[in-house]
Amino acid sequence: MSDNKTNKIIIIGAGLCGGLLAIRMAQRGFNVALYEKRSDMRIGMEDAGRSINLALSARGLKALAIADLKDKVLENTIPMKGRLIHPMGGEKFLSPYSGRPSDYINSVSRPGLNILLLNEIDKYENITLHFDAKVSKVDIHAAKIEYKSGEETKTDEGTIVIGTDGAGSVVRRSMMGHTTELLFNYSQDFLRHGYKELSIHPGENGSWQIEKEALHIWSRGEFMIIALPNLDGSFTLTMFHPYETEVGFNQLDTKEKVRACFEKYYPTLLPYIPHYIEEYFENPVGTLGTIKCYPWQANGKVLIMGDASHAIVPFYGQGMNASLEDVRIFDELIETHGGNWTTVFENFQDLRKKNADAIADLAIDNFSEMRDHVDDIPFMRKRKIEMQLEQQYPDYYSKYSLVTFKPDLTYHEAKIKGRKQDELLLEMCKHDDFDQIPLEAFYNKVQGI
Ligand SMILES: Cc1cc2nc3c(=O)[nH]c(=O)nc-3n(C[C@H](O)[C@H](O)[C@H](O)COP(=O)(O)OP(=O)(O)OC[C@H]3O[C@@H](n4cnc5c(N)ncnc54)[C@H](O)[C@@H]3O)c2cc1C
Repeated sequence: MSDNKTNKIIIIGAGLCGGLLAIRMAQRGFNVALYEKRSDMRIGMEDAGRSINLALSARGLKALAIADLKDKVLENTIPMKGRLIHPMGGEKFLSPYSGRPSDYINSVSRPGLNILLLNEIDKYENITLHFDAKVSKVDIHAAKIEYKSGEETKTDEGTIVIGTDGAGSVVRRSMMGHTTELLFNYSQDFLRHGYKELSIHPGENGSWQIEKEALHIWSRGEFMIIALPNLDGSFTLTMFHPYETEVGFNQLDTKEKVRACFEKYYPTLLPYIPHYIEEYFENPVGTLGTIKCYPWQANGKVLIMGDASHAIVPFYGQGMNASLEDVRIFDELIETHGGNWTTVFENFQDLRKKNADAIADLAIDNFSEMRDHVDDIPFMRKRKIEMQLEQQYPDYYSKYSLVTFKPDLTYHEAKIKGRKQDELLLEMCKHDDFDQIPLEAFYNKVQGI
């Protein structure tokens, strides 16, 4: 596309979404100026308090594939075949993610993936990457930005500006400054839970002290801890606890209280985390929330994508996957409409908004499922049936699999179909004669949804 060279795309935020977007736009021949408020993480520090590893699944991988990065990224991941549940006072057990052994999710290091993208970006002469450049304002009529570089305030102007600057997006805030002109709707819903990261250190010779290829969950009703493996033998633990109540972050403010909480609720974890008290007090508590807004574009000049337009809670492991999928859909629209930006932007928000809303809702559903239901009887029966159905019937996918392993289905379609299936299967799993029901009857029940 020869005329692409005359288009300058300004991208704000060199995170996961912005990084992939910059690469793909450069591959299409556009000139890209990428602004990142942080220093170069390859020489600087990582962002404290953010999740250190993430679950990467089919939608994210499909998006990375358009830039030819899927295999490179996969080389640095650890497969997680299922949830390894550590019940209170019971034996741990594995609940596979799918009845198909080829369907699993992958633990990837957030800074590792970001660095891989930055290293790729360096290979493109048509990307100019500015670190320590905090964008403070965007002119939504002229695709102009203002940013701070050291003590200086500078400006830049492009053909378009795309904000991939995360949940606290300045680009979104600039759009909000024109609420009546854009009829801009915005909502932010915080959970009454926050998160804090702890860790299990590597064992001898960099070995993994607990099962490596699983996502571990110590679910305790209203709260839980999860663990994802890292390549160096460690695990990143994330505590999801309320702010209030006796197990709340606001209440666990002395060593004694923290110790009492862990001894009561997480005794099987304690042998692996001798340093947990220090980590607990060193690491910050992060907030969890859902951000919804609309429109996502202004005047065919400015667009937001990734967490900037749809931040969600992390309980489906889909925030990054959805943000990378945004890039794939955006790229497909350019394939169809070229650099007709108003058309591309309008189609993008039309296509993506309902899918972003769907995964936001599913992520909230999964919060209660992970905390409350992973070791609940009808739920466990349903998981067992879902596994058998997936093994037996090639066209059957559970709700989790529709969301996680079927990237050709939109999140919206996955939500509608998945919720209906769940409802019907759970109803059958509540029956006392559950064991007598043939598998075919379950299959027939959910056929044709
Ligand atoms: C606890 C937790 C666990 C999670 N687990 C998962 C998971 O397992 N799987 C999954 O798919 N997702 C997960 N997520 C979600 C995932 O982290 C996000 O959806 C993803 O990082 C969004 O990518 P992004 O590029 O849109 O935003 P970000 O990753 O937030 O990147 C934004 C970038 O913009 C930069 N920036 C911000 N403001 C400015 C500015 N004014 N000027 C210039 N640059 C700026 C930032 O420094 C950053 O580099 C999790 C999130 C949390 C909180």
